[in-house]
Amino acid sequence: MTLSMTINGQPRAAAKTREVPNPSTGAIVGQMPLATAADLDDAVAAAKAAFVKWSATPDDVRVKACVDIADVLHANAEELAQLLTREQGKPLGGLGSRFELGGAEGWARYTAGLELKPKILQDNQDGKVELFRKPIGVVGSITPWNWPLMIAIWHIVPALRTGNTVVIKPSPYTPLSTLRMVELLNTVLPPGVLNCVTGEDSIGALMSAHEDIGKMVFTGSTATGKKVMASAAGTLKRLTLELGGNDAGIVLPDAKPASIVEGIFWGAFINNGQTCGALKRLYVHDSIHDELCAVLVDYASKIPVGDGLDERSVLGPIQNRMQFDKVSRLVEDAKARGGQVLLGGQAPEKGLFYPLTIIAGLTNGIALVDEEQFGPVLPIIRYSNVEDAIAMANDNPNGLDASVWSNDIAAAKAIAARMECGTTWINKHAAIQPNAPMGGVKNSGIGVEFGEEGLAEYTTIQVAFS
Ligand code: NAD
Repeated sequence: MTLSMTINGQPRAAAKTREVPNPSTGAIVGQMPLATAADLDDAVAAAKAAFVKWSATPDDVRVKACVDIADVLHANAEELAQLLTREQGKPLGGLGSRFELGGAEGWARYTAGLELKPKILQDNQDGKVELFRKPIGVVGSITPWNWPLMIAIWHIVPALRTGNTVVIKPSPYTPLSTLRMVELLNTVLPPGVLNCVTGEDSIGALMSAHEDIGKMVFTGSTATGKKVMASAAGTLKRLTLELGGNDAGIVLPDAKPASIVEGIFWGAFINNGQTCGALKRLYVHDSIHDELCAVLVDYASKIPVGDGLDERSVLGPIQNRMQFDKVSRLVEDAKARGGQVLLGGQAPEKGLFYPLTIIAGLTNGIALVDEEQFGPVLPIIRYSNVEDAIAMANDNPNGLDASVWSNDIAAAKAIAARMECGTTWINKHAAIQPNAPMGGVKNSGIGVEFGEEGLAEYTTIQVAFS
């Protein structure tokens, strides 16, 4: 299967392509077109030309277009889910591809209904002062490989809703489902409003420096986000950066292991841990440490891991070799530094199915705790003084989310408020929704997505005195 890029509503092939493998089997799913710099220029030029009309389109027409996007996602959900599973590896069922398509549709539908009304700042004998929100122009969107379609929709729909046009570049690891989704969405959008180019990372670098792109929305690693920010400086682009996370969870002594085990497991292992906002290090009070470890191991050991196309699979492989090697390296290092492997911990010789892994006996200062593992591995750190746990949780350059687990909601909320991060949860983790702005502090990003605050990031302010 060779899918085309979409530029100005038309399919665009490339002279060169690259194979996209299925991480479950290694079989080739399809060919990704390798865009040239000229293809990117054409896509940006098409988006720039389309912006003239799209930005002046009545609001209700743009609302309808966003609802149409949700309808297209709904009508084609199974085809897209199958393609997503084949290139990403995640299972079709559970919190896998069908769930991702449902999320994409839900976000599109909710965002369609959002509105940034003009504000009257003053209206008196001295005159009227109004604040309007205007679209920026061409938005460049760069997405990662973990939740490729849902994140693409998080970028595309608010950009279009507010009158911008878009050029999207998916990750080279998972380009096919985005190529197909953009092709489908173009059946309900005017030509040039939504364009898609695929290729190597270098195309992303060209986008963030492109003089006709007014804003970059980037979701990916902190290291790449810093590069995007640096190269966007030359053209003073607006930026939304959703970057890496190393989310901490703190389990207080009064928590009941049996009632929190499911929430902790899925908070950590959702999408095989390949989720920015997954629980990536767990601080557990000494008094319930052993009991919680035992129930977690019991719960995790019953989860079926296998080929994403097998309906019995609940979790799949790690998406790519680079990530697999990173996870293996972090686990080996943790073992060498005294970590006690309670489950898994041994990389298979072949394939990308890393076993679900739980390692206790760790502390801050060990790479598996300090760095984002982005895989099916949960490090557990024992503490006896909650002030130490708070300090250890905050002692990290990332600041995406955190959770506190306790029956005493008031005490848990007081601790959550002290976490240096953009989102906190009590007795759950990684639960997001389209009306709640999401974004990181510190090295986890700049700006937010979702809700009115997220929508506003696709606009500039114009104040009018009359
Ligand atoms: P990555 O940074 O390697 O790649 C992300 C995208 O950037 C890809 O499309 C890639 O082609 C592109 N890219 C690479 N080099 C570039 C450059 N120099 N200029 C512009 N674009 C370039 O990230 P990844 O491995 O695909 O994704 C995993 C990371 O994403 C994790 O750190 C995860 O925490 C993070 N993430 C964050 C959020 C969030 O909302 N905060 C959500 C999902 C993933």
